[in-house]
Amino acid sequence: MITRFDKLQTELPHPRNPSPNSAAAVQELLGGKFGEMSTFMNYTYQSFNFRGRSEMRPFYDLIANIAAEEFGHIELVSYAINLLLTGTTEQGEDPTDTPLASAADARNSYHFLASGQQALPMDSQGNFWTGVNVFSSGNLKLDLLHNFFLECGARASKIRVYETVDDPTARACVGFLLVRGGVHIVAYAKALEKLSGVDVGKLLPIPDISNKRFPEAAKHESRGLHRILYQFSPGDYPRAGEIWNGAHPEDGSELEVQVGAPEGFDPPDLDAEPQLTAPAGPDIDPDMFKEVAERLFPEVSARKRRVRAKAR
Ligand code: MN
Ligand code: MN
Repeated sequence: MITRFDKLQTELPHPRNPSPNSAAAVQELLGGKFGEMSTFMNYTYQSFNFRGRSEMRPFYDLIANIAAEEFGHIELVSYAINLLLTGTTEQGEDPTDTPLASAADARNSYHFLASGQQALPMDSQGNFWTGVNVFSSGNLKLDLLHNFFLECGARASKIRVYETVDDPTARACVGFLLVRGGVHIVAYAKALEKLSGVDVGKLLPIPDISNKRFPEAAKHESRGLHRILYQFSPGDYPRAGEIWNGAHPEDGSELEVQVGAPEGFDPPDLDAEPQLTAPAGPDIDPDMFKEVAERLFPEVSARKRRVRAKAR
């Protein structure tokens, strides 16, 4: 079972230059072959499918904890895309103004034609994510090797998106994910090391550029976020620490498991877009809206009536 918190794992600033094409580039980190949908669903299925847990429990706990974190990553990237799309069309109620004109030149028109200026599980070219991206062979060494490769591929995509988009919203998101993805790279390297004795950490970093080169990532690393593996449960999955321990292969800092989810930040609550009828169009009957509100919140309505009567 999963418990859900209405929080984001990091804080996202509002964009300086909202742009449909920047949003499209960030989509690669959501629904691309190496995006968060892929990491999330790979580890989720590998954890559901894990056989022989009694002997291999620390590996099961590690994969399960990382799977839970990846759910928060699809959430974070989706919000970054939604923010980058906010302000890219003419907000208004008159369709004859061609409020969606900018969609005609957008690389990914699904953001406007198939959603209300919102993220979709697709890559930067508008190809929808599919389950073909899930690798769950049942062989632990093969799955861990795959996960290590997947995280390194994901890191390459993150770096390229960072190099494509300079908006602070995108860079805050990518910087944070570089650090957390870095934790997952080291976690799978350590897991392979425990299983085989091979010093996989010697391969790092892949690609050969340090996270410390990216100010939005370095900021989190200076606070030690690259050393922490979260146990996304108050009591379950406790044995990941039998793999996540010792020294970080890049800077030698001490690895540590933190019980429970990170505290998180409030997600942005974005305004309605009436030109996209999101969530409602300009012609909604205001009396009907009021009647629904009165039925749903009778105490609030009664209080309002009393306040209004007093004012009179
Ligand atoms: Mn991730
Ligand atoms: Mn990851």
